Amino acid sequence: SAPQTGHGGHLPDGAPLRLLRRVGVVDPESLDDYRAHGGYAALRRAVDLGPTRVITELEDSSLTGRGGAAFPTGVKWKGVAGAPERPHYLVCNADESEPGTFKDRVLMEGDPFALVEAMTIAGYVTGARTGYLYLRGEYPLVTRRLENAIAAARARGFLGEDVMGEGFGFDIELRRGAGAYICGEETALLESIEGFRGEPRNKPPFPSVAGLFGKPTAINNVETLYNVLGILDIGGQAFAEIGGGRSTGTKLFCLSGAVGRPGVYEVGFGTTLRELLDVAGGVRGELRTVLLGGAAGGFVMEENLDVPLTLEGTRDIGATVGSGVVLVFDTDADLTGTLRRIAAFFRDESCGQCVPCRVGTVRQEEALARLERDTPIGSRETEIALLDDLARVMRDASICGLGQTAPAAVTSALQLGLLDRPSRSPNGKVPSV
Ligand code: SF4
Repeated sequence: SAPQTGHGGHLPDGAPLRLLRRVGVVDPESLDDYRAHGGYAALRRAVDLGPTRVITELEDSSLTGRGGAAFPTGVKWKGVAGAPERPHYLVCNADESEPGTFKDRVLMEGDPFALVEAMTIAGYVTGARTGYLYLRGEYPLVTRRLENAIAAARARGFLGEDVMGEGFGFDIELRRGAGAYICGEETALLESIEGFRGEPRNKPPFPSVAGLFGKPTAINNVETLYNVLGILDIGGQAFAEIGGGRSTGTKLFCLSGAVGRPGVYEVGFGTTLRELLDVAGGVRGELRTVLLGGAAGGFVMEENLDVPLTLEGTRDIGATVGSGVVLVFDTDADLTGTLRRIAAFFRDESCGQCVPCRVGTVRQEEALARLERDTPIGSRETEIALLDDLARVMRDASICGLGQTAPAAVTSALQLGLLDRPSRSPNGKVPSV
């Protein structure tokens, strides 16, 4: 039977959901219904405050980017807004392709007008008149809903030359990706928008200085932009009271694998992994491990399930919040086979521009395939030493995040001894990633 899916959350003191509050409630194709559910109140508030005070609210909130890099959003917007060179550009990175990640899809399918509103606020604050929405090509329903939302907003004066009659212009151009995972890397994404092959650029210069067409560009992930609406709703300081340190506000997590109700869940930063699993119906079967933070993250064992889900807490146990992947393995799962499939994914998706990644991802997959078949060259120990060596070279010498993090899950598995024996059980299953 089809797995149960869910979305929901667990916030401190029973506070209402912030990011998912309209998903499943509002009609995603009606601007009127969006407005009836609080839509465009945040843009009104942003215009009343003015760009400088909106940036102050963002700084007070300590909001960090939700695409995986966790860079402070207020700092990014301030840098672009203050850049002397013109024009400025805004780019929304909606090329959600990380294995096990489907949170942006839920937001955009269920509440598409919110992304249009949030991008308009970002354009207003950073001084960009054009925003590019770079959307994963394999999201046809999201495409239709965003096209509808952009057209409706334009027809009603929420986009265009004079937004809401407030004297500033902003419009959105929707660009669809063509299936290349690497175009989710922000500089490869810029290359793609400009009409070139999606190959990452060397940094610096960073996009906030020289981004799209060489101009100052703010690039934000979808979930990051939805958070801006919540910050303008409750204020930066109230937002910062959820969680703490560099980890403030709420976070969406994508739960899949051996869990009762796979789906997207919103929790406050600081919630423990154990609590998050409980919200999603608990572990199905006997827990072996959890891959937290996706292929670029790390494995978490039972004894660390009480780790708080924060940037700091997950780093201390060798994992990461990343883009919110929580992939649960029971004792019946084929871990080596899953890692080999992840390695195959990276081998496929490497853009081939630099040798450590182009060759390293192939060698990594080959070694994992030999371990999976239990036909090592030499011994399992020599294969594991090879994987360890490859991981160091790829991490240290690759140009971009794909090559640098492609061996992360393998390295974590090695450190925890998860590859020390053939892991395929007689009924071994490979979770869908
Ligand atoms: Fe391309 Fe991989 Fe090098 Fe990134 S690390 S530039 S994806 S070859």
